[in-house]
Amino acid sequence: MSIWSEHLHNSLGSILLTQDQIEQRISEMARQISQDYASLTDDLVVVGILRGSVLFMSQLIKQLDLPLVIDFLAAASYGSGVTSSGNVRITEDTFIDIHGKHVLVIEDIVDTGITLSKVLQMLQLRGPLSLKLCTLLSKPSRRQIEIPVAYCGFEVPDVFVVGYGLDYADKYRHLPYIGVLKENMYS
Ligand code: 5GP
Repeated sequence: MSIWSEHLHNSLGSILLTQDQIEQRISEMARQISQDYASLTDDLVVVGILRGSVLFMSQLIKQLDLPLVIDFLAAASYGSGVTSSGNVRITEDTFIDIHGKHVLVIEDIVDTGITLSKVLQMLQLRGPLSLKLCTLLSKPSRRQIEIPVAYCGFEVPDVFVVGYGLDYADKYRHLPYIGVLKENMYS
């Protein structure tokens, strides 16, 4: 066993979603999104929230049967801990002018909703034609601010998950599955 596999074996409690489960669901989401925007003649602006959405977004957009452009936005609300600070900072803004455009925001997980409500508020002020949210995961039991989620991959329980883009202290993002981080790793 490699040092890394041994580390994973000791730090992950269980695998919540396998790569197959995740990617099958992403294909379904891509079909739904392609259908919903089928009448689009202009480019859909797909905005990924860095860095957690990167794996999800790349898997999703390959399967969108639509004209689109991609952009990114970085928002920080968590340091290296596991609970929301409630203090959201936009650390890197989008490049494309979204005024008069259909915009689809891609997120890894909606937890309290604090980060996304701030991001969506800010993007709404720029006058997009439409603004929808697509997230791989959602933890509804943790919601503090209600935000409309147009597309959700999976609802997950109140556990701290890593992999498929999601990190703990910037690690584990590259895992092709989603696992539950053992509590003793962060408490
Ligand atoms: P919110 O503002 O909705 O509470 O938090 C959203 C952000 O918190 C996500 O983009 C993600 O970075 C982080 N987050 C929330 N829950 C989890 C989790 O279970 N695992 C990981 N890795 N990050 C999480």
